[in-house]
Amino acid sequence: MAGLCAAARARELGASPVVFEKGTRPGGSMLLSSCVVWRYRSFDEFRAQCPGGDPRLQQLVHDRLDEALEWLEALGAPVVTRDTGNPLTTGVRFDPGRLTEALVRVAGELRLGEAVQASDGEPLLLATGGFQGDPGLVQRFVAPAAPLRLRANPWSAGDGLRTALDRGAARSEGLDEFYGRNMADVDFGEPGFVPLAQVYGRFARIFNEDGEEFVEGAEVSWSEVDLVQATARQPGARAWYLLGEEALDQRVRDRSVREIVAQAPTRTDPAELPFETPEDCVVAVRVAAAITHTIGGLRVDEGARVLHEDGSPLDGLYAAGADAGGISTGGYASGLAAALVLGRAAAETAAR
Ligand SMILES: Cc1cc2nc3c(=O)[nH]c(=O)nc-3n(C[C@H](O)[C@H](O)[C@H](O)COP(=O)(O)OP(=O)(O)OC[C@H]3O[C@@H](n4cnc5c(N)ncnc54)[C@H](O)[C@@H]3O)c2cc1C
Repeated sequence: MAGLCAAARARELGASPVVFEKGTRPGGSMLLSSCVVWRYRSFDEFRAQCPGGDPRLQQLVHDRLDEALEWLEALGAPVVTRDTGNPLTTGVRFDPGRLTEALVRVAGELRLGEAVQASDGEPLLLATGGFQGDPGLVQRFVAPAAPLRLRANPWSAGDGLRTALDRGAARSEGLDEFYGRNMADVDFGEPGFVPLAQVYGRFARIFNEDGEEFVEGAEVSWSEVDLVQATARQPGARAWYLLGEEALDQRVRDRSVREIVAQAPTRTDPAELPFETPEDCVVAVRVAAAITHTIGGLRVDEGARVLHEDGSPLDGLYAAGADAGGISTGGYASGLAAALVLGRAAAETAAR
């Protein structure tokens, strides 16, 4: 997302960017996403939801998202709906395939199957999508109790982070944080990314494999990112959701929890669990934490310039999207929105 947006904006500004795409197709995780590009309705809400994030970057995303969404529409990306379905947020849902097509059309030269390369003296934007695809980096920084399944494109493996750290770049806050989903605990590929997600933990009683209730469902945030991160630190990076009738009657967007649970391949009779379960529990679902993208990354300024450990900008080096960390630290905010706004900001700074 960030790289294509930056290239499209750079071309508008008269530059001739080249997009290096390591994968076999353009679009990255954006192409696989639900493609809701959103912000919190107020900046205060953003701060409250993501208290560890850099306020200057959060202000930038908050202030510049609406014009950036209009820009995407003007490029020919059709809007599917203007409702995020969440009263805390506002934004737009695109069709991911058609958004990718629209961006590719205007981004200029795209070299598929080629990893990012820089020529001396030319600006380089790192937009490789985070480091979730490198189990070693995930183990080092996120430190889950067991390997996490990947719920993202397979190519985002920390190339941007490594390139910049080699040049003395500073790391953002929140390198141990990630956005992901608790998924039915089975192996899955791209078609399972959305249907296997179990996003109703806030209505459940949540136990680990040792039978310890490690988090109160009622305390879980709306995005459930906190629950997913807590699950990643439990034995096997797994949990059991225990549900009674009242929980099954709750709704998540347009579906009841009952419908989602009925399709979960790991739903289980509570009597089969190796620990005592609450009396009112009628069904259990085994989930495992999966990682979509890292939240920590490189430290950047409002012009998307990568900062050196001493706080000065690194000459000609930019980062956007999940490579730029510290925006939603402590919570969750739209990764697509951050990629769009910082990608455009990188192109504008480089053009200047
Ligand atoms: C199932 C799913 C649902 C989601 N739903 C939403 C949603 O509704 N709203 C939302 O805001 N976010 C959502 N997301 C998250 C969103 O997709 C990401 O936050 C966003 O795509 C990040 O943008 P990016 O540009 O950093 O990375 P990407 O969009 O993943 O792009 C990174 C690109 O870099 C390429 N790359 C990696 N290494 C190299 C290299 N060395 N050289 C060249 N290219 C390289 C990758 O192949 C990839 O194409 C979802 C993600 C998934 C998987």
